[in-house]
Amino acid sequence: MKQGEAANRFRRFEHELEDQGMDCFLVTHLPNIRYLCGFTGSAGVLTFANGSWSFFTDGRYTEQAKNEISGATVRVNSLPALAHAAQWLAARMRGHRGRIRIGIEADHLTLAMESAVSEQLSRALPKSKFHLAETSMTVERLRMRKGAEEIRRIRDAVNLASSIFPQVIESLRAGATENEVAGGLDHLARVAGAEKMAFESIVASAPRSALPHARPTRERIGRGFVILDYGVILRGYCSDMTRTVHVGDATKASRDLYAAVLEAQLAGIAAVRPGAAAGEVDEAARKILRKRKLDRYFTHSLGHGLGLEIHEAPRLARGQKQILEPGMVITIEPGVYIPGKGGVRIEDTVLVTETGHEVLTPTSKELIIR
Ligand code: ZN
Ligand code: ZN
Repeated sequence: MKQGEAANRFRRFEHELEDQGMDCFLVTHLPNIRYLCGFTGSAGVLTFANGSWSFFTDGRYTEQAKNEISGATVRVNSLPALAHAAQWLAARMRGHRGRIRIGIEADHLTLAMESAVSEQLSRALPKSKFHLAETSMTVERLRMRKGAEEIRRIRDAVNLASSIFPQVIESLRAGATENEVAGGLDHLARVAGAEKMAFESIVASAPRSALPHARPTRERIGRGFVILDYGVILRGYCSDMTRTVHVGDATKASRDLYAAVLEAQLAGIAAVRPGAAAGEVDEAARKILRKRKLDRYFTHSLGHGLGLEIHEAPRLARGQKQILEPGMVITIEPGVYIPGKGGVRIEDTVLVTETGHEVLTPTSKELIIR
């Protein structure tokens, strides 16, 4: 990560901590660590104490941490990173006047981890001297608005995933199994340069297309809708898209169902602009399906933010008050699932711009009949 960028993120985070009255903070969620200091490895803890940042890791990551991290002192020890961080924090804060408020990420720390931190601290400090303050979404809130470089990376990931879509469709011949199509899809993505898939690819042929989170099976693809939902990771950032294809001739009812979901998706996208509440965008899409009495088959929320993780804030769901802001990147993915028959879902990745939105996914949404 560029030095200026890291410094900027640290500054925004410190400001947030000041608002919350924290003296220290333990960042343990790896995507949050990566966001703040650039470390891409799989073990480490980032701490803020007395105005300075330290990163704790073990011997496997000494070189990598020194190369990747700017703005934090790298501290390597044979202790587990979290114990080392807590021990160091206790020593560092010993002279602190008053009770020390130490922020922890309650969404990510297990109870065992929390008590390990507490135990390390109480070896050096009386219990009355410190308080572990459970926080939620502190770094995640900062991650909602993406910077220019982050948007570039997401755009590249989205384009890579879209670029393989025509070949994925080619592989969707009758007789192929869902597993074969999913495996081929993942292979195409890796060959095109993806670091890995953003999540387990979904290939669901009717009637399994009626299961929103179907896993690919050994079943052969038959006549009906096939939902293809996949995403890649490129330079750390995720993409996410869904297209629904029809294998064999589609009846009028199937075409109407597809048209209704597409209309809902377009209405959702049209509602994306700075100042709109996430719940309003959800409602814009849901309303279209309600008019057609299909809303009871739309059983999930409309979309989610994405970035370093596939599911991030904001959540686009009923009643969500989070206001959309420029730089947020979200998915718009209504779906209708009719039990025993089949389902349709259409998903694009959308950027909130200063004036409205930009759909990043370039792939056509016209119904493809194979
Ligand atoms: Zn998806
Ligand atoms: Zn999604």
